[in-house]
Amino acid sequence: MKKAKDIMNMKNLTRLVYGLAAVMTLAAIFVVTTRRDNRHAHTNDVSECTSVVVVASGDTLSKLLSEQGLSHNEIVTIANVLKSDAGISTLRANSDKIEFRRATDDSPISKIVVIPSPWKQVELTCDEGRNWACKTIDIERDTRAVYRSGEILSGDSFYLAGQRAGIPAGILVDVYDLLAFEMDFERDVRAGQKFSVLYEENYSDGKKVDNGHVLAVAFEALRGNVKMYRFRQADGTIGYYDENGNGAIKSLKRTPINNAKITSSFSKGRKHPVLGFTRAHKGVDFRAPTGTPIPAAGAGRVVARSYNRGHGNYVKIRHNGSYETLYAHMSKFAKNVKVGTTVRQGQIIGYAGSTGLSTGPHLHYEIIKNGKHVNPMTVKLPAINNLNAADKKKFLEYRRVLDGGIEQLSNNPKWFIQM
Ligand SMILES: [Zn+2]
Repeated sequence: MKKAKDIMNMKNLTRLVYGLAAVMTLAAIFVVTTRRDNRHAHTNDVSECTSVVVVASGDTLSKLLSEQGLSHNEIVTIANVLKSDAGISTLRANSDKIEFRRATDDSPISKIVVIPSPWKQVELTCDEGRNWACKTIDIERDTRAVYRSGEILSGDSFYLAGQRAGIPAGILVDVYDLLAFEMDFERDVRAGQKFSVLYEENYSDGKKVDNGHVLAVAFEALRGNVKMYRFRQADGTIGYYDENGNGAIKSLKRTPINNAKITSSFSKGRKHPVLGFTRAHKGVDFRAPTGTPIPAAGAGRVVARSYNRGHGNYVKIRHNGSYETLYAHMSKFAKNVKVGTTVRQGQIIGYAGSTGLSTGPHLHYEIIKNGKHVNPMTVKLPAINNLNAADKKKFLEYRRVLDGGIEQLSNNPKWFIQM
């Protein structure tokens, strides 16, 4: 199978280096070329002798084949060949396509092409004796890195600004998830902030099919510029790293529930809404309807799963020697989450509620560093997944070259990097 080529391996890095060097000397088209316009090239390759069926809800293989005039025996044969040779036994509505080909309009079907993904075709052909054979073909991907940049305007969300910049929704979600480790989208987004994304677009035969990975992100956050680069280490591990090659994914999420509004911040002294007198608020409150799943902010071990008068139902996780997180007022705990359970980042540990001293359903979230409560929104969190010396050297070289490419693209928005 011809896999999507990945920019992170050395061969492609070398290509990129030479390609970008060529750009500098104006001999330019090998790596960065102008975008071809392929908008009009879509799916008109249906001749008189080919009919294409998009599988609809309720369709079965035998129904579709029978509609094409194939006999029951032949249908059984084709189904068996498809199952044994291509592992296909069911069709998926609204995504699978089937092409039926005939030599002429009146002749029986001589070829059936099942298209279960944009990157795979299963071809069934029959000989004169009506024996069917099956072959799986992997479609070669042509992957291009494209660059989009934008700016937050007054009253904007990052999502709106990203859409305006022409960044597809799926890529925006990936970017959001990457940056959520580093910034708080409720608090840190301000008019005037600029951002940019380099991401993959996959083409087949000159037609864009889908988007690939986010390769680089830059965001002018309040705390300073956040930059992340996707990089593959020598052992194949893929991660995101900052400009200096430090793991960009932090060990804890500042906001365990994506997009939840902060209803009360960390403070050294505030009037408690239930008790009425002033005391410190040792965590951050996020608005969350009863039953909202609460994900672990980081990987760790459950050290408390209990009830007390203030926190109601709460879970406490120890992440490493210095960090613990606490989640309070839960309506209930997740099944299988007990004291001693090891959880991964994002694993659901319980559900939001209003147990304990609480005026309404919310998540009260605390980060405890070396036994002391810290502000989850501002605490400097440790980086994980750092590179070894050899990978770091390679990363820094790669990053320097990629930044050069990004610079070119930012001046020529219609160009792309051929991967
Ligand atoms: Zn609270």
